[in-house]
Amino acid sequence: MKSIDHLIDEMKHYKETLWVNPDKLSSKKAFELLLITHPELPNIEAVIAADQRLKRFAPFFISAFPETSESKGIIESPLLPIPEFQKSVIPFVGGRILGNWYLKADNLLPISGSIKARGGVYEIIKFAETLALQEGILNPQDDYSCFSDEKFKSLLGKYTIVVGSTGNLGLSIGTIGRALGFKVMVHMSHDAKAWKIELLRSKGVNVVLHDSDYSVAVAEGRNSAMSDPYSYFVDDENSYELFVGYAVAALRLKQQIIDQKINVNADHPLFVYLPCGVGGAPGGIAYALKLVFGDNVFIFLAEPTHAPCMMLGMATGKYDRISVGDIDIDLKTDADGLAVGRASGFVGQVLTPLLDGIYTISDDKLYFMLYILHESESMKLEPSALAGLSGPIKMFYDSEGFSHLAANGLLEKMNDATHISWGTGGSLVPDSIMESYIKKGQGLSGTL
Ligand SMILES: *Cc1c(COP(=O)(O)O)cnc(C)c1O
Repeated sequence: MKSIDHLIDEMKHYKETLWVNPDKLSSKKAFELLLITHPELPNIEAVIAADQRLKRFAPFFISAFPETSESKGIIESPLLPIPEFQKSVIPFVGGRILGNWYLKADNLLPISGSIKARGGVYEIIKFAETLALQEGILNPQDDYSCFSDEKFKSLLGKYTIVVGSTGNLGLSIGTIGRALGFKVMVHMSHDAKAWKIELLRSKGVNVVLHDSDYSVAVAEGRNSAMSDPYSYFVDDENSYELFVGYAVAALRLKQQIIDQKINVNADHPLFVYLPCGVGGAPGGIAYALKLVFGDNVFIFLAEPTHAPCMMLGMATGKYDRISVGDIDIDLKTDADGLAVGRASGFVGQVLTPLLDGIYTISDDKLYFMLYILHESESMKLEPSALAGLSGPIKMFYDSEGFSHLAANGLLEKMNDATHISWGTGGSLVPDSIMESYIKKGQGLSGTL
């Protein structure tokens, strides 16, 4: 295993690297430990209850977001095989990837076109439901399309939802928040993508731009919400509700795996690769995947070489007490969904007994894979969302990744393995910008 000094040196020089988590436990031991250290974490029943809350809101989703009518108001993305991509990478990695490779296409999630439609939507509907129940205008048995009624909108319109965001969380909260009648204020850093800012403003969201990075935008949001009883702050760094909302994805994925007759068991391991920013989305999903699949699932997070905050926090054991700026990393990445300098301490600690590891990836590779995925499968992802697609390559062609397979007795099982790369966003990217991404990827010389 790599020494921590060696790892930090690679991070400082923006070299792609892979860290294997030395503190991972068997899932039984991990959950026993977490029950003591984090008794507030959701158990499987709590995740199912969150899924049911989302289902209660299905009639409202259908009326507010007609694109959800086909799925009967369920906000879910398809699990898609990507065999052409799997073949296309061979010349660039110099060999094959064993196993069956899928994309979990959260780029196609309704409402906000990214993984943030899971946690973000969940936290806001939970808040809306709580207010309506308190006010006595809602029964849990009611048809929740009533949330479109004036009576509900005027109640919720008294409240302002505040959130700090690099872009996609703001888009998600802004869209669902405004649809329910809330006022919404989104604090963003100055490097937020212009089209995301415009889209939010067109929905009547108050966007406040800050001359600083994401953590400061979050802190500003927290401060502005604190003094006002009619303000509700969505805390991307610590929110339990976001975490639970993301966790629901594991139940949905399990059903898709069953429906598609994919085997997951001791001889058919499942590998899941999740792009990581502050950690909430991949953290909630990883946690619940371990609840659902136990020791048969192996989970890696993926971060840009210029924003490896979770790797730095977990590998040093300092969690949110260290930021990438502390080791002079500049946070300059086009993967705006992942451009976070300080990871969630809560998520880092929860993942310590569960996670297999974290790898980093350069922006050039994100763009090159964006191009290859588009050429081979006609799929369009935003740069952040490609990070999970180098996971299987790292497993076989990074020496630390390969050693991890060997150490876990997995090498002889890899023909029967399933790889799921989480494609975390993309469908809202304007066509002209997507074209420029694809062109940029095409122009890069390809090694993967
Ligand atoms: C936010 C985001 C992530 C990561 O989620 P975190 O909760 O910040 O770790 C990954 N991909 C995209 C496209 C995102 O917007």
